[in-house]
Amino acid sequence: MANLSLGKQEVSMGMDNVTSDYKLSLNNEYMPIEDIPEFLRNVGMRASKPRVQLSELLFGGEGRHVTAESLYEEAIHTKIKVTLTTVYNTLNQFSELGLLREIAVDGNRTYYDTNTSNHHHFYNENSGQLYDIDSDDLKVIGLPTPPNDQNIWRIDVIVRLKKMQE
Ligand SMILES: [Zn+2]
Repeated sequence: MANLSLGKQEVSMGMDNVTSDYKLSLNNEYMPIEDIPEFLRNVGMRASKPRVQLSELLFGGEGRHVTAESLYEEAIHTKIKVTLTTVYNTLNQFSELGLLREIAVDGNRTYYDTNTSNHHHFYNENSGQLYDIDSDDLKVIGLPTPPNDQNIWRIDVIVRLKKMQE
């Protein structure tokens, strides 16, 4: 997949230790926005204008959680000419490259996290917001033995918040 020489690093993606040749957003290290077009070309993606602009929204600042719909709305708001399909495809491609982490909160809503390091989430069921929980702040005790020589490769905890009716 990727062949960019931005410094090789061993990226633990769970089941396999994947040696990655890129390091955008991995462990929350961000690359300068002006490097994004070259980065996209180097991972074999066309550096189309919408894709570059979406990358800037995603990786240009603090870590964030987006859905395809929220990123699409944001793009439209900032006058980026893009279709919802392009947003979907771009998010999926970035996830496959390990640049985003998919978080399936419920059956019909997938969030994409620009912070791919190990951490957990609060999910506000009323607002649909996700908040990070540092992995040190939540301990999982007493893991079950996985069936037949399978290995646990990641534990994603979603702590659900709800405003109780008065
Ligand atoms: Zn997160």
